[in-house]
Amino acid sequence: MSTYSLAIHGGAGTITRNSLTAEKEQHYRDALLEALVAGESILKSGGSALDAVMQAVMSLEDCPLFNAGRGSVFTATGQHEMDASIMRGDTLDAGAVAGVKGIKNPVVLARAVMEQSEHVMLSGLGAETFAKETGITFESEKYFYTEQRFQQLQEAIRGGKVQLDHTLSENKKFGTVGAVAKDQQGNLAAATSTGGMTNKKFNRIGDSPIIGAGTYANNKTCAVSCTGHGEFFIRAVVAYDISCLMEYKGLSLKKPAELWFGINW
Ligand code: ASP
Repeated sequence: MSTYSLAIHGGAGTITRNSLTAEKEQHYRDALLEALVAGESILKSGGSALDAVMQAVMSLEDCPLFNAGRGSVFTATGQHEMDASIMRGDTLDAGAVAGVKGIKNPVVLARAVMEQSEHVMLSGLGAETFAKETGITFESEKYFYTEQRFQQLQEAIRGGKVQLDHTLSENKKFGTVGAVAKDQQGNLAAATSTGGMTNKKFNRIGDSPIIGAGTYANNKTCAVSCTGHGEFFIRAVVAYDISCLMEYKGLSLKKPAELWFGINW
């Protein structure tokens, strides 16, 4: 029997049990489950890892609880600038967008860049023009407004900081979203989407749209979607490094993941 696998994340950070009400925890669990089901139904019926990661990430982008798409954090000027990327492990094709505004599902735009342009990464206004030309769905400012994110911006401004959403108050840690999958044909794919850091300035771009830093997939090794302080992931080219450690040193995923993320499997 062919097998498949799918993993998703809704950001880094440790959430202590007593910092969440049962109701809120249920909300998050439901949203994560919905994303898993969206991706799994594709894999179960023989669909591609690429479609599965895109659907799972779209589902999380549509949920205001996560720092991606609808629930994206605010920039210093009170806007939402979103980053996203997607990569397929069979061909190593990839697409990414950085600093885009008003796009309902940045991961869909990243895929359009991969499949309908001759480029890998588009940013800002140019990416938005491309989105219009390719029929991508836009949403109004209002759609992206969430009170929780607005309060996080006020908190960050008061502290004079640029912040990861999960370094803020205890109960507000859900962040950047991502998915990795392997389909029944053995192909891998990865996707990541984020609003970046609260109170970010100067068109700051994080690791999420950078292939090799926040996202990477290669059928020979693994599929990776990162979350955490983007500047560190960019400098260390983390996602690609994990793949390289597997490819060149013949390690299993366990070792490089432990090395980079301190994960105890
Ligand atoms: N990696 C994201 C960034 O730096 C933030 C996050 O993972 O929460 O933009």
